Amino acid sequence: MLKEKRALVTGSTSGIGLAIARALAAEGAEVILNGLGDADEIARLCEELGATYNGANLLDPAAIAQMMADIGPVDILVNNAGMQHVAPVEDFPPEKWDAILALNLSAAFHTTRLAVPGMKAKGWGRIIATASAHSLTASPFKSAYVAAKHAMAGFTKSIALELATHGITANCISPGYVWTPLVEGQIPDTMAARGLTRDQVINDVLLAKQPTKSFVQPEDVAALALFLCGDAARNITGANYSIDGGWTAG
Ligand code: NAD
Repeated sequence: MLKEKRALVTGSTSGIGLAIARALAAEGAEVILNGLGDADEIARLCEELGATYNGANLLDPAAIAQMMADIGPVDILVNNAGMQHVAPVEDFPPEKWDAILALNLSAAFHTTRLAVPGMKAKGWGRIIATASAHSLTASPFKSAYVAAKHAMAGFTKSIALELATHGITANCISPGYVWTPLVEGQIPDTMAARGLTRDQVINDVLLAKQPTKSFVQPEDVAALALFLCGDAARNITGANYSIDGGWTAG
């Protein structure tokens, strides 16, 4: 389905991004991986997927510009890299606020602005953001993340309108809780912020949000991303697809 398409998936050395990269590669796309991680493991992933890798640190706009110049035009851009920090707003470290806004929001602006000219030249493109249920609703102690994800939904709608006559679609996928290192990593801070045990955080904070009482799987998100890359999705643009076990229905 995606033969002769080139796809950059940011934050694809782990979790949801890796599942999306695997799904795109399985359909014949030439995948460029990006993200942090162990060099040997990344080399193994490149071999598994027939992918290449660019290790740009997306906190740095100059590094993003260098990456986009180095990799050349892409047909599919998946803005997926993200991080989380959980703390009351009065204790929220300003440097964490800046990093979350830079990675979860501004990095997507930079990759997009640099990818769009190539997509316009071809008259075809797919821009997908891994947003979050937190692009639609809020939780306490996640002020930076919620702000960045709400902004990603707005950014995506705006560029969808701009690009609508160019054969380029832009959409958000908004997962609920997916069991990845990002979720596992926020458990200790949530235990501290709310005075709870690990099991209480998993069952009474995380899964309490999801009526299905189960975590979304990275592969579920990847299947939706793959659909959005296909021809059947050519008229889907500016949308924000929830895949959250019913969380935002409530
Ligand atoms: P993850 O921690 O497994 O993966 C994050 C990826 O981003 C990794 O590849 C990491 O190396 C990369 N990354 C981190 N900092 C980077 C940097 N400075 N430069 C380049 N790459 C960097 O997390 P995940 O859960 O797979 O999250 C992926 C996306 O999905 C994020 O945008 C996250 O907000 C979103 N999301 C996750 C969940 C969830 O429950 N896991 C829910 C909704 C949305």
